Amino acid sequence: MNYRTDLEYRKETLIKLLNQIQIHENDIIKALYDDFKKPAFEAVLTETNYIISELKDTIKNLDKWAKPKKVLPSILNFPSTDFIYKEAYGKVLIIAPWNYPFQLALCPLIAAVSAGNQVVLKPSELTPKTSAIIAKIILKTFHVNHVEVVQGGAEVSQNLLSQRWDYIFFTGSVAVGKIVAKAAAENLTPVTLELGGKNPCVIDETANLKLAAKRIVWGKFINAGQTCIAPDYILIQKDMKNKFIEYLKEEITLAYGENPEESPDFARIIDLKNWKRLTNMIEPEKVLLGGKTNIESRYIAPTLIDEPQLDSLIMKDEIFGPLLPILSYKNEAEIDNIVSKYEKPLSLYVFSDNKSFANKMILNHSFGGGCINDTVIHFSNNRLPFGGVGHSGIGAYHGSLSFDLFSHKKGIVKKANWLDLPMRYAPYKDKLKSIQKILKWL
Ligand code: NAD
Repeated sequence: MNYRTDLEYRKETLIKLLNQIQIHENDIIKALYDDFKKPAFEAVLTETNYIISELKDTIKNLDKWAKPKKVLPSILNFPSTDFIYKEAYGKVLIIAPWNYPFQLALCPLIAAVSAGNQVVLKPSELTPKTSAIIAKIILKTFHVNHVEVVQGGAEVSQNLLSQRWDYIFFTGSVAVGKIVAKAAAENLTPVTLELGGKNPCVIDETANLKLAAKRIVWGKFINAGQTCIAPDYILIQKDMKNKFIEYLKEEITLAYGENPEESPDFARIIDLKNWKRLTNMIEPEKVLLGGKTNIESRYIAPTLIDEPQLDSLIMKDEIFGPLLPILSYKNEAEIDNIVSKYEKPLSLYVFSDNKSFANKMILNHSFGGGCINDTVIHFSNNRLPFGGVGHSGIGAYHGSLSFDLFSHKKGIVKKANWLDLPMRYAPYKDKLKSIQKILKWL
């Protein structure tokens, strides 16, 4: 087998992978629950089904994506036909995080394999059950020289990073992203960095507040707020704030009941370190709802925080948990001041019925991607690029873009021999004027 050039072999292995995932879907859902009580509904929607769809789409489109793409030739090269060939990079390292541990490991893996690469995947050590099932599925599907799972923590990851790769795909924190970028620079290895950031959610006075509250509660508290594109903080027009808080409280209670600790639909914090990091951010006098925690079960209630100081712990870095600060603004200058105080975020959300305001928010700020009048769902359209900008990441993937990401694009001119125009060849004597005329005309 030669996965670099044999498209049929790549397709066969992807079909095998699809079968294995379908066979083990319940084991994956159980592993995700065991790791951090991820509700089965969320596991299907955001992990297994997402990957199954991505696999089906890849298998269906692989021939089309892999085919050399014909482009218009340059008249200067006449007569020629010109093509872009997609070539596998070679050896790819994928390092995955814990928050969507199945999806964020498998999605780049499928893409790298579809593009003809050899892959080493390091899943997260913080979700040992899910990582184990990933390792089992990969072992059953691929030859070990084609795709291999290496398990372990930061040390294992650093050991892998010290080796030479042809491409590195990393999803995780900004801090580790910098470590990855430095290691990659040693060998001039191209990287994709899928990182995080503080994602603003701006609401103006024309927004449908009730619907906004419903959609924000869903996007914020899915996976207990441990989503890279979850709204990080609310920025709402001052006069609308009190009404909006009432709607938020109603929606949280509707979704998770009076006591979210008893809800089967609310996940837990991944580990004690993150639980402590998050509980330290809660200033009790600013809590509008929630605030309840349980160290034993690593529970933190969906919590609304009123007007934290911009230099407080909760407003310093990405929250990455079920705490939602609500800040208010009086005018657009205040929005810009707050949003631009931080590095470019991974996403930005704007709730407004005023098209020009919404457009201004989208155009005036630099961020990875986002939504008008919703949260998080841009992730689910695989025709949209998914990735950050600045500190929230480098590169974007999903759908056909993923195939392209893991392929080197080789430009090839196929020159015909039936004509050979003499103009370009030396000696150039008496040719300068004519070439200048032709170039002007072109
Ligand atoms: P992390 O950076 O701590 O870990 C990610 C991976 O890097 C893990 O596999 C881990 O073992 C490895 N790692 C940890 N420390 C390392 C080190 N010192 N050297 C080398 N490798 C190391 O991130 P996390 O806690 O797993 O995930 C949370 C972060 O990931 C958040 O910041 C979140 O925004 C971000 N994230 C981004 C996306 C995205 O698509 N942009 C998706 C999910 C999560």
